[in-house]
Amino acid sequence: MFDLKPLFDDIDPNSPLIIAGPCSAETEEQVLSTARQLAAKGIKIFRAGIWKPRTKPGGFEGIGAEGLKWLQKVKEETGMKVATEVANHEHVRQALEAGVDLIWIGARTSANPFAMQEIADTLAELKYDVPILVKNPVNPDLELWIGAIQRIYNAGFHRLGAIHRGFSSYGKHLYRNLPQWHIPSELRRRIPELPIICDPSHIGGKRELVAPIAQQAYDMGFDGLIIESHCDPDCAWSDKDQQVTPEILNVILNTLVVRDEKITTENLTMLRQQIDEADNELLEILSKRMRICREIGQYKKEHGMTVLQSNRYDEIMQSRVKLAEEMGMSGDFMKVVLISIHEESVRQQLEIFNNKA
Ligand code: PEP
Ligand code: MN
Repeated sequence: MFDLKPLFDDIDPNSPLIIAGPCSAETEEQVLSTARQLAAKGIKIFRAGIWKPRTKPGGFEGIGAEGLKWLQKVKEETGMKVATEVANHEHVRQALEAGVDLIWIGARTSANPFAMQEIADTLAELKYDVPILVKNPVNPDLELWIGAIQRIYNAGFHRLGAIHRGFSSYGKHLYRNLPQWHIPSELRRRIPELPIICDPSHIGGKRELVAPIAQQAYDMGFDGLIIESHCDPDCAWSDKDQQVTPEILNVILNTLVVRDEKITTENLTMLRQQIDEADNELLEILSKRMRICREIGQYKKEHGMTVLQSNRYDEIMQSRVKLAEEMGMSGDFMKVVLISIHEESVRQQLEIFNNKA
């Protein structure tokens, strides 16, 4: 269905595509210093956000077109290719006119079909032959992701790839954006010829998660990585917790194991990752349930009620066991789980009752 071309003729499509650079271009000095250090480590494609889509107004919204001049200097001085994010007609025009070698579309933009069509129309109108990477939309919607890719493809751009940067969700999690690995895996199944690279920086949101997530991506046969790297991460103007120095990036890249055999979706690693995700969700739900229990405990204490109310307990047991059976699980197994959860809930409520405060 998709007749794709390699992203770059002078970069081997069989070895991982590595893109690195700061979340944002901040100053000329920060851009050039980071770029020089990355080039010295053998990085071939430099990234830097010029226009930054921030959740709330008041944050650093990017240096704007001025930063394009710094990217030109990076090209001239280091010979690296340069990449930036575009989100509308003007970004595309200015980036391409400034000689940007690769553009990517961010997660908030790929979730918006109007913006995607505007970008596709601009690309078609300007006719620069540029490779384009489309990040997954912030919400876990594979069809929306494919739709965004299709709009660019239909505009006549066949040097295309996807970036998996995880999916946002409400509440506190280990990851900044949940990986939901089965979604890029399904994208791979649907469009096998499309290169998919992983963005462990935005998935993890923390420096220490970059390496393990990057390794998972390699284990699953991803085609490369885009990693945020900054000459002085602690002082970064955006995403400081997830950026690594070029030195650390180099260590990470050298310790990653690149598998020769690409792993299929049925593979054990993939299934184990799904189990890990399911367990994380289970733990989050359990801790939420315990929190609510403690709130109920407080309420009962304040209203002179007893901890144990047997009709409520019976009702919970019966309805959950029935539901579990309808979901194909054993009722006996569910009773054991519920008894154990209930015991812990009672223990937690008694703790609140015994607390004199
Ligand atoms: C980025 O790459 O800096 C960025 C803004 O990423 P995302 O669109 O994935 O949030
Ligand atoms: Mn970022």
